[in-house]
This record gives sequence, structure tokens and C-alpha cells, in this order.
Amino acid sequence: MESIKEFYLTGEGFSESRLYEMKMLCREFFPGADIRQDPCDCNLIWKDGVWTLTEKNGRILRTKAAGRTDAFGNLGGDLEKNREKVGLYSLLKEQTGKEIPWGILTGVRPTKMVYEGLEHGLAPDEIKKTLETGFLLRKDKANLAVEVAQRERDLLQNHRGTDLDLYVGIPFCPSRCAYCSFVSYDFHTLGDVMERYTTALEREIRSCRSMRGKRRLRSFYMGGGTPTALTPDQLERVLYAVQESFGFENLTEATVEAGRPDTIDKEHLQVLQRFGIGRISVNPQTMNQETLVRIGRRHTVEDTRRAFALAREMGFDNINMDFIVGLPGEGLQEVAYSMEEVEKLCPDSLTVHTLAVKRSSRLREEGQTDAILGQTETEKMIRHCAETAQRLGMHPYYLYRQKNMAGNFENVGYSLPHKECLYNIEIMEERQSILAMGAGAVSKFYEPERNRLERIPNVKNVEEYILRVDEMVERKERRFFI
Ligand code: SF4
Repeated sequence: MESIKEFYLTGEGFSESRLYEMKMLCREFFPGADIRQDPCDCNLIWKDGVWTLTEKNGRILRTKAAGRTDAFGNLGGDLEKNREKVGLYSLLKEQTGKEIPWGILTGVRPTKMVYEGLEHGLAPDEIKKTLETGFLLRKDKANLAVEVAQRERDLLQNHRGTDLDLYVGIPFCPSRCAYCSFVSYDFHTLGDVMERYTTALEREIRSCRSMRGKRRLRSFYMGGGTPTALTPDQLERVLYAVQESFGFENLTEATVEAGRPDTIDKEHLQVLQRFGIGRISVNPQTMNQETLVRIGRRHTVEDTRRAFALAREMGFDNINMDFIVGLPGEGLQEVAYSMEEVEKLCPDSLTVHTLAVKRSSRLREEGQTDAILGQTETEKMIRHCAETAQRLGMHPYYLYRQKNMAGNFENVGYSLPHKECLYNIEIMEERQSILAMGAGAVSKFYEPERNRLERIPNVKNVEEYILRVDEMVERKERRFFI
């Protein structure tokens, strides 16, 4: 049953969304399994308050009733749904012998639950206990969720729901990584597209300037893609348009995700310095050359060391590095080597992602998902990274989970004190408006009075974006001019 490749799930009275959540919980036990529309060898049926697991011929393998009503301490919204999830979790745990680190939490940010608890006046220890006993989180995960949420709350204490963040997306990269699911084009294949894109983006940025209204600006974040894939001149034009329209001097932080080390050179860094960009990322993902080749990043480990040293030499004192745990062909030994190398460089923050194999990635298309999702070493690798971050004097300050992550774990941002990226927290917690510009960028309009967030996406395709840039502005105008 542990190596189940397909399953069928049905529930008496379940809505579409309830059914979806239950299926997502099953996926945590059966990574990569297909969800069938008709009964198969593994059938999960909710009826009359009981879960039943049957084989295709109807033979009952196991049954389980819903969880206890009093275990959730007013957290997590829909009580009935949570009770049903606990029943399903317990049944699958008994059947497979597996324990899922984040228990029944699917489709909800762990820190959101902690905020809810704090707002109800619960003490951190009470919240941890409820997460463990009600939502079946493992102790270390409950501790992590509470620690990160408390830190986030401290970091965002001056934040107001009426503030505004700016995001600019550059959807170009020097090659496409095998696991990439972002909007990103290999710029070697594009002719004059980057130039036309820069012009369209300048136009969108300038047209959005009055949407700020009376809002206080907080953060500027330029991501992608790889912003430094632009030529220094194009990068300068985009940053100038932002400066002219919104002013960097009002911002509390400005980040450019330089990202791919093979795009980072003195000219690009000088442009960033001219605009006062305080925080950059130099993202190795791994310090093992063979893995870089395997995942199609087409830069070298030496590029990473060179780019990092150059940025330091030029005075950048807030550099983040991203790593991915669970890359194909990597085990504890490879991750330990990457961490050894990172300790020599001493970045200011470290973001440790667990590989998520998404539908639009080449890894998924090539069917390499089983080997990756089934990795048993993921846990040890994650722990090793956490220990490295701790040795570097960092603390965890943001946390999120995605679908299809290796071993059902999480992504964690670690940082030295005062080097955290507030934008990273804000984008996860979704309690602030973000004015986002560029192909594939998603603006978020937040109404604090109703605690309601609306997403306003730009088109993803670059040619479409260039053609329809005025429409992208109009889409935002409808919400941001109120
Ligand atoms: S650097 Fe990032 S955005 Fe670019 S291809 Fe790789 S994963 Fe995608």
C-alpha cells in the first residue's frame, strides 16, 4: 500500500473543495499517485461518519471514525472538516505506517494557524499542544511554526494593512532549470524580445505611478526569472522608471534577486548600487557541479564563488543564498558539501527550499518525480541545513509549504538578525497590497477592514504582455483607484 500508484476517493455530502482537500491529504501518503475517477485497488470512502478503505473487489481493509471534536481548540476553521481529516489521516497512518511531519495541514499556512491562536489569546505552548494533538503535527514542526510566526509578528509590528509593496518581474534566464515552473524564457533564444519587454515594462511602471494613492510604500522586490539577465542598460532603465514613479527613498527595503551567478558582474552590481538596492540574492541551489549540469543551470560552482566575492568586495552587506534540498542525484553527502561551502562564504540569509516538482517543470514531464518525491534522506538534509543556518548565527523567519514537495516538508528562510526580507513574509501572509508589474506578475489588493485579498494577474506570455501592456494597467486601475 505504501507504493500505491493510484487511488479513488469519495465522500457522502462532500463539496468539491472538501473532496480536493481530502485528496491532497492522501497525496501526502501516496506521493505522485494518480487520482482515479472510478474505483481501483485503493478506495477511500467516507460514509455515515466513518472512513473505509477497500480493495477493488470491495474487500474492506480498514475503517476509521472521525477525530475528536474537542481537540482543535477553536483553531483551523471548519471543525467537521478537520475531524474528517483526522479520521482519514489516522486510517492512512495505520495502513502505511507513515507519519506526515505537518499532520493534517494541507492548503493552509502553518503560521496562519499560530496567528489565529495568538489572536484568540492562546499562549504559544497551548498553540503548540493543539497543533500536535489536534492537527497531528510532529513536535519539531509545531515548534517551528510557532517560532516563525512569533518572529514574523515582531518583524511586522510597524506594518499597516494599508501599506503597499512593489514587485517587478523579469521573466528571462540564461537557461531553464529542470525543476522550474515559473514564467521564464531562455534569453539566448529571444532576439530583440528583452529590449521590447523593457520598453513595455517601463510603460507599465510609469502608468501605475498614481495607483499608490496615499498608501505608505514599504518594500520593492525585483524577481523573476533573473533580473540581472537584462543588460546593465535595460536594468538601469527599469530601475529608473521605478525610482521616478515611486521613489526608492521612501522604501524600507529594496531587493533584487540577482539569482543566477552567471549573470552577475561588476556593471550589473554598479547599476544596483546606484539605485541603493540594499539586498540581493546570489542563488547557487547546490555547490555540486554535477548536479548543476543535471538540472540544466548552465553555470558553475566557481561562478557562484566569484559573484558572491565580487558583491561583497563592492560593499553589498545583505546577500541571500537559495538552496534546494531533494535535487535529483543528491543525498545527505552532497547537501553537507554545499553547506560546508556556504559556511565559508557566510551569506546574510539562507533560504532552504524543498524540491517541489510542479506540473510545468521538465522533471515532471520526464517522469522523474517518483525518485525525487520518495527520498527518505530529505529529512536529514533539511536538518543539516537548519543546523548550518544556526551555526551561521541565523534564525528561521519565514516558512511556507507547496504541493508536491519532496517528503512533504517545507521551505524556510533563515537570516542574521536585521537582515530579514520583509517582502518575503508579506507575500506569504497576504495582509498587504502588492502592486506587481511585468509578465506573469500578480498584484494583490488587500482590504484590511474585510481581511479580504483579491489577486489581479498580468498575462504570463511575454509577447502577449508586450502587446497588451495597457490592458495590464487597466486591470489594476479598477482595484487600486478606489
Ligand atoms: S533561475 Fe529560477 S526562474 Fe530561472 S529557470 Fe531557474 S528556476 Fe526558473
